[in-house]
Amino acid sequence: MTNIKVIVAGPRGKMGSEALRMIKKHDDLTLVACLDMENDGLKVNEVPGLPDFNATIYTDIDTCFQAVEADVLIDLTAPEVGYQHTKAAIEYGIRPVVGTTGFTKEQLQELTDLAEEKQIGAVIAPNFAIGAVLMMEFSKWAAKYFPDVEIIEKHHDQKLDAPSGTAVKTAELIRQERTSKVQGHPNEKETIEGARGADYDGMRIHSLRLPGLVAHQEVIFGGPGENLTIKHDSFHRESFMSGIKFSIDHVMKLDVLVYGLENLLE
Ligand code: NAP
Repeated sequence: MTNIKVIVAGPRGKMGSEALRMIKKHDDLTLVACLDMENDGLKVNEVPGLPDFNATIYTDIDTCFQAVEADVLIDLTAPEVGYQHTKAAIEYGIRPVVGTTGFTKEQLQELTDLAEEKQIGAVIAPNFAIGAVLMMEFSKWAAKYFPDVEIIEKHHDQKLDAPSGTAVKTAELIRQERTSKVQGHPNEKETIEGARGADYDGMRIHSLRLPGLVAHQEVIFGGPGENLTIKHDSFHRESFMSGIKFSIDHVMKLDVLVYGLENLLE
């Protein structure tokens, strides 16, 4: 069995700590280091609440990537730092598997070009839950027949970016199939700004942020006399881990950046 050496960025976070637990369950993965904002030089098992790993925590990207031999970086942090980590990983020949959301189109293009130039595999996926990927694919299919669509995404109130990466990705996929149109009444007027949500090519995206939520999305299609709702719920962050493991296995065979888990699934 090949052993894959992994660095996790964001180990104290909700997703990062779940990724550490996922690594514990797989004999073919070895945690070799973590990148964090604090606890420089400590071992993972010296940080209260983290699983029992002997790997060292680094706060500086270059020091970490120079000190440690690694195959894959799992990044589950925040948009700006996640972008810096991903770029540095590609430059150091470490394959990034990135769940961090909120990268700009320009950043994604730059990372795609860099991975191609360095011939390094990379996976960036706004949603690693297999059910969410299917929800996006079914929505793309439905958009062929229902050009009127609104997206409601709901997340916990600690999420930094809005709309969610999944909502943006869903809208992008729908746009590929949908005849472009501005929805709603041509004279509609917001009496409170933002009431109709974000406008993406004429379709509306609404972002809810509440304690108690994890990650949920409804894509609602409207036609004469009927509605179709395609809905996905992640109730626990464990739902993202099988997609992350799948991506780690696949990124080892890639020499380009793949954006979206659906592009890795058969
Ligand atoms: P979180 O709990 O806030 O965790 C983020 C972690 O990153 C925190 O521990 C934070 O440290 C750390 N961090 C911030 N800046 C850092 C830096 N400079 N270096 C190293 N670590 C740094 O957030 P989360 O819910 O785990 O989500 C993390 C990311 O994953 C978000 O972008 C979220 O949207 C995304 N996400 C993706 C998926 C998917 O399937 N792709 C699913 C869920 C979430 P502090 O605690 O000290 O701030």
